[in-house]
Amino acid sequence: MRPLPIRVRLTASYFLVLCLAFGAFSVLAFFEVRGSIHSAVDEGLRDRAADIQELLERQWSPEQVKRELAAGSSVRGEDDILQIAETRGEWAYSSVAALHYRLQLAKSGKAGDKFQFFTMYSEGMPLRILNGQLRTGDKTYDVQIAAPMDDFYDAVNRFGLLLLLSVPLLLLVASAGGYWLSRKAVAPVGEIARAAQSIGEHELSKRLPILQTGDELQSLSETLNEMFGRLERAFKRVTQFTADASHELRTPVALMLTRTEIALRKERSEADYRETIVRIHQELERTSALIENLMTLARADSGSDALQVASTNLNEVLLEISEPARLLAEEKSIRYEQRLPEMPLHINGNAPALRRLFLILIDNAVKYTPRQGRISVVLDACDGAAMTEIRDSGVGISSSGLPHIFERFYRADESRSRESGGTGLGLSIAKWIVDAHQGKISVASKVGEGSVFRIEIPLSEGDC
Ligand code: ADP
Repeated sequence: MRPLPIRVRLTASYFLVLCLAFGAFSVLAFFEVRGSIHSAVDEGLRDRAADIQELLERQWSPEQVKRELAAGSSVRGEDDILQIAETRGEWAYSSVAALHYRLQLAKSGKAGDKFQFFTMYSEGMPLRILNGQLRTGDKTYDVQIAAPMDDFYDAVNRFGLLLLLSVPLLLLVASAGGYWLSRKAVAPVGEIARAAQSIGEHELSKRLPILQTGDELQSLSETLNEMFGRLERAFKRVTQFTADASHELRTPVALMLTRTEIALRKERSEADYRETIVRIHQELERTSALIENLMTLARADSGSDALQVASTNLNEVLLEISEPARLLAEEKSIRYEQRLPEMPLHINGNAPALRRLFLILIDNAVKYTPRQGRISVVLDACDGAAMTEIRDSGVGISSSGLPHIFERFYRADESRSRESGGTGLGLSIAKWIVDAHQGKISVASKVGEGSVFRIEIPLSEGDC
């Protein structure tokens, strides 16, 4: 089942909370009013009992007391409902109203007991009753005083009715207000969702309208726009990468096709065929390296090739590659020097990836340094990082080319790079490896003088 819209759920929760709050308030208010009325009436009954006590203490004759009580009754009107009787004796008095309501005088109370209050109905009239004993000298009297409660109860019931009618009405109005508010609050989210839906893969440059509300909704649309920006850039990178990769692959394939077509055009000598095969083999080697590099970068982009790191001694890594590096340099009569510190420098690294990184940089240094040149590799510790510098006395990189050399397929000198087997991906892979080690790679270069590539990778905790 589809969940209900958020505005309906909000209103329903709001309605429930209000029901509970109003319900509890109404019940409390009703009983509080009723309780207060009882307390006030009880207080009146207690006062009357005190008056009677005073009267009894005057030591008047029983007849005089009766007259006085009757006079009091007539002053107070019919409502003075009163019965009094000597506990051990014959003397008793009942007001007209007490007789009318047929009240029974309880004789069970003990002297000094607190007064008892309760409510009862007699002759259809709700009565609040005080039962108790009064004591004067050696005599005790049972006394019962009552007050009619019909007017009070009418008022309380009217109050209850008012609550009963007004609370549902209030609930309705408040819930309607809550629904309107939540609709208003949620409406922009719907707008944002509709706008986001309209952004397809080919319209990634579109952006959501920013609601200048300064609240969560504004930050939601801004966050979504930032996300679209990142998606757009990633999408462009992938499209560009695919286009560049196809372009790069097309060139050697076209070259190989042309060579084979020319070779097959007529009968050739064995030496000619050999020459063609050697050229095709060179192209295949280059294409194979290109495919290998493309796959490395594609895996790096997808995040599936996360490097496993372990404590690695950088001196050892550089010692391991010194032999192939020296061989590469010697092929071009380039002097190769390597200076490593005495102490081991440990980093959290992936040894094969680090070997690949240094070989890419040394291979480049060899490629772009003329014969008889110099290449030096120096490792040192600096500010909690292992710093490796690969310096060459080669052709250098122009200042316009410098900002681009880590871009994929960028080559400062297309023909030179291609001639030397370059794919334009080496430095992109180098940068990815350095980034994966939380390191930094930078370059300084002067055309005609040479280049220095500097790599800084944080040392492991103990080596800092
Ligand atoms: P390539 O396979 O073409 O060498 P890279 O990504 O390794 O691709 O390098 C990109 C470009 O940077 C190269 O084409 C070259 O122009 C320039 N470059 C890299 N290293 C050096 C260097 N040591 N000296 C001069 N230019 C360099």
